[in-house]
Amino acid sequence: MTNYIISAKDLSKIYEVGPSMVRAVESCSLEIPRGQMVSIVGHSGSGKTTLLSLLGGLVKPTSGRVFLDGTNIWALSDKDLSRLRNRKIGFAFQFASLIPTLNSVDNVRLPAAIGGKPPSPQRVLELLEMMGLEDRAHSYPAMLSGGEQRRVALARTLVNEPEIILADEPTGDLDEDIEADILEIFKKINAGGTTIVIVSHSWAVASQAQRTLRMRRGHLSEEEE
Ligand code: ADP
Ligand code: MG
Repeated sequence: MTNYIISAKDLSKIYEVGPSMVRAVESCSLEIPRGQMVSIVGHSGSGKTTLLSLLGGLVKPTSGRVFLDGTNIWALSDKDLSRLRNRKIGFAFQFASLIPTLNSVDNVRLPAAIGGKPPSPQRVLELLEMMGLEDRAHSYPAMLSGGEQRRVALARTLVNEPEIILADEPTGDLDEDIEADILEIFKKINAGGTTIVIVSHSWAVASQAQRTLRMRRGHLSEEEE
């Protein structure tokens, strides 16, 4: 075990779009101690989603290295990388939408079950309860509000007990009071020892974390108190 659950050195990502190059992330280094709740704040287009995708092993950096719990993830085979990712990381990304034909319980349990680790029915209900959704366990996504859907997705993220959660704009497009509820849930998860990285364009969201980093045109800096 290393002290840092994630450490990244000199990460860069250049997207080639036709003849032009987009420098989405440039020479970013950071170290995240186990158990910390960190936010990364920046304007739209500053490279936040790209950085989070690099850290989570979803997008391969043009240069630089990412260590997840001491393992150099981009030196792994695809198979080993996806195994490590599944074991350690919970993604709360906006594209991770619910399956409309499954109720809350099945949406929460399905990905873990497909991964060969079906959670007990009790575990699923505990998670839904933690999200304040015990009376929505058998509802289908269409019957749920946006905030409720987001909480079902969060329960699904937690079902494998990830060591770290990477959340990309987890409260984007939600009303302020629901945003506050979701942030309270993240704090509760963090209080249980899970490391959390939240990316947001909103200072109100970012300020809820113990530490805030600032993304500006692909460059990362520590935001002083
Ligand atoms: P943010 O999440 O802060 O809005 P992104 O990481 O999504 O920023 O984007 C950073 C820059 O990289 C933007 O200029 C965006 O257009 C560009 N970009 C992001 N993803 C891709 C991609 N897959 N292909 C080409 N350009 C991309
Ligand atoms: Mg983004």
